[in-house]
Amino acid sequence: MKKNDFNIKMLDPENCAMCGMCTNYCPTYKISKNESESPRGRISIIEGLNKGELKPTASALKHLNSCTMCLACESICPAQVNFYDLMVQARDKYFHKQKLIFKIKSLLLSIFFTKNIFRIFIKKIFNILIKVRLDKAKIGIFKNLQYIKTNTKKRINFKTYDTNRKNIGIFTGCATDIFQESVSRDCIDILNRNNINAEILKNIKCCGSLDFHNGRKTMGLKNYHDTVSKFNTNKYKKIIGYASGCSAFLMSNKNYEDATSYILNILTKSNANFKTSYLKVCIHKPCTTRLANINFENLIQILKMVPELSVSIFDDKYCCGAGAQNLLHNKNNSLEIINPKISFLDKNNIDIILTYNVGCSLNFISAINTNNLENVKVMHPISFLNDRLI
Ligand code: SF4
Ligand code: SF4
Repeated sequence: MKKNDFNIKMLDPENCAMCGMCTNYCPTYKISKNESESPRGRISIIEGLNKGELKPTASALKHLNSCTMCLACESICPAQVNFYDLMVQARDKYFHKQKLIFKIKSLLLSIFFTKNIFRIFIKKIFNILIKVRLDKAKIGIFKNLQYIKTNTKKRINFKTYDTNRKNIGIFTGCATDIFQESVSRDCIDILNRNNINAEILKNIKCCGSLDFHNGRKTMGLKNYHDTVSKFNTNKYKKIIGYASGCSAFLMSNKNYEDATSYILNILTKSNANFKTSYLKVCIHKPCTTRLANINFENLIQILKMVPELSVSIFDDKYCCGAGAQNLLHNKNNSLEIINPKISFLDKNNIDIILTYNVGCSLNFISAINTNNLENVKVMHPISFLNDRLI
């Protein structure tokens, strides 16, 4: 979500000049070459729906659902069309006309990820599957477990340096709490090494973006307000979260900062030393980097401080295809969009992909699994840096 953008105004799709400059930046147009899968096509569909010239049928709505909300179109648009708001409004307005399967999947995802009791249940099942090493069986989706499981040592000691000093609160998010719990420990570990108190925020639900972007705006906003109401400014100096998707949504809260950005600044000031690492890493830049205010160049510079580490970035500049729940609703699209990045990994013998958004991580894991590139790991940069710190 963009800063201070909660009261979305009615927007006019006619602001679009239909110039088509955005088309070649759109990942779904790139794979389909279908005008309805381009930003301009989607704007025309929204206009047709809003004017009643087009019925909200499944075949019309599928083109809105397949948008990854990467906002590459918005960044390039000379008419400054507010594509984000147009899409959020349209998805919300026509959610009730979606196919039943779409609504069921969206509701189940929301229930299991944002309700604490269900999330704890999923986490327990997930940890049991990892413990019994079901990943070794290499059956279907269980193969993914071997990539998701933690590969970071639990060195955390929860030191308190000064009881009068405010802590940093770590917001774990919903999907990140299930799939990347270890990253919160890595955040605390790095902060503790730098004499900063930190703790994980308890009993906080999702940031709200999950529902907000998928047509359930009211529920998304409710989750957002519940979450930020617990950002206790008396107790915490700052709240940090390590999924850039959540950060992009939470940045309007002045007490919040993205964890990658915060920790990179600390490492820059601390003259950190790293272990020699004969590894090839490739850094992925999630679409939410800009809105989450993460300095991607800073990440490259810090990784270059790791002796012998080979650092590369993807030559394909399109989004990975996971955004706005496409991994759930349009998995084939997500896999096709990410394909050039997977070929890059294969061609360049990359050992580790570093990405700071959980949706992108899951898309990479799924694509690596599908393409049998089993030697490539996916890690959060915070976990990688913590593991390499001396
Ligand atoms: S947000 Fe991304 S996927 Fe959606 S229309 Fe714009 S460029 Fe295409
Ligand atoms: S959204 Fe912007 S760039 Fe795309 S066709 Fe419309 S005016 Fe042109």
